[in-house]
Amino acid sequence: MPELAVHLRDILAARRRIAAHVARTPTVMAKALEDRVGAPVALKLDALQHTGSFKLRGATNRMLNLGPEERARGVVACSTGNHGRAVAEAARRLGIPATITLSELVPQNKIEGIQALGAEVAITGRSQDEAFEEAYRLESEQGMTLIDTFDHREVIAGQGTAGLELLEDVPEVDTLLVPLSGGGLMAGMAVAAKAANPAIRVIGISMERGPAMIESLRAGQPVQVPEQKSLADSLGGGIGLNNRWSFEIVRALGDDFVLLSENEIAAGMGHLYWHEQLVAEGAAAVGVAALLSGKVAPRGGGLVATIVSGCNVDMELFTRVVTGDAY
Ligand SMILES: *Cc1c(COP(=O)(O)O)cnc(C)c1O
Repeated sequence: MPELAVHLRDILAARRRIAAHVARTPTVMAKALEDRVGAPVALKLDALQHTGSFKLRGATNRMLNLGPEERARGVVACSTGNHGRAVAEAARRLGIPATITLSELVPQNKIEGIQALGAEVAITGRSQDEAFEEAYRLESEQGMTLIDTFDHREVIAGQGTAGLELLEDVPEVDTLLVPLSGGGLMAGMAVAAKAANPAIRVIGISMERGPAMIESLRAGQPVQVPEQKSLADSLGGGIGLNNRWSFEIVRALGDDFVLLSENEIAAGMGHLYWHEQLVAEGAAAVGVAALLSGKVAPRGGGLVATIVSGCNVDMELFTRVVTGDAY
C-alpha cells in the first residue's frame, strides 16, 4: 500500500479522543435487502449520531486537537448543512466559541437550526462563495480556526472511527459502500477497512448530478463541477482545487466508483423507510440504492456493508419521495 497521510493509529487515537462526545452508533443487518440481493447487508447507522450525521466525529476530533489559545479564539465554518450542525454542536460541547458564516440566501429555518445549537451566525453576501470569503476573513483577521468539512487529516481520522466501529461489529465485511462527496468519510473508512483486511473492496457512491470527486479522479486532478440540485444534497459541492489529503487517499484506496440517478436514490430512501424502518436523507441512502439498482453486486455471497450517513432531510420532501409522489 502507498504511504498515506492518515493511518490506522490516527483513527484509533481519534476514537479514544472523541469517545466521550459522540455516540457509538449501532450496526444492523438489513434482512429485506439480503433477500433482494442474495448476500448479507450490514447498515452502520450514523443517521442516529448526535446532530443526525457522522460529521460530528471529524469536527470533534479536529477541535479536540486545538490548543488552549486556539480554542479561546474560536472556530469558524461555512456550511448550512450537516457540517455546520456538527461544528456548532462540537463547539458547544467543548466550550469553544463558534461562528458559522452563511449567505443571505440561506432560509430562516436553517439559520435558526444552527443558532439553536448555540453557534453565532454571520450572514454576509449573496452566495456560498461570499460566505466562504467571510470565513477566511475571520480566520486571518480574528485568528479563528477554520474547521474544514473533509480535507484535513484530523477530520478524516475522525470520520474513520465509523469504519472502525463497523468492522468491530461485522469483521467479515467483503464490500464496503461509502457515500462520496469531498471524500473525508470514504478516506477515513477506507483506511480503517483496509487496515483490518486489505482484501475488502471499497466503493465510493455519488450522484450523477455534480459528482466532483469522481470527475476529479477521471481528470487526474481536482476539478470544478457545476453544482446541481439533487436528492443527495449533502453530496453536493466541490473537493477544493487545492485539495491536499482526501483526493489522494480516495484515489489510492478506492476500488471502484458508482454514479446514481435521482430515481435510484429515491428508491434507496424508499427501501430504507418501508423495509428497514429508517429515515435516511438522500446522501445516506446511496449505498442501499447502488445495491438495489444492480450497479453494485455482492462478490459471491460476501457481506456488503454501507453507512447510513445522515437523516437531515426536509420531512415534506421525504414524504413525497417515499410515497412515490413527484419531488
Ligand atoms: C458530508 C456527508 C457525506 C459525504 O461526506 P464527504 O466526507 O464529504 O465525502 C455523506 N453523507 C452525509 C449525510 C453527509 O452529510
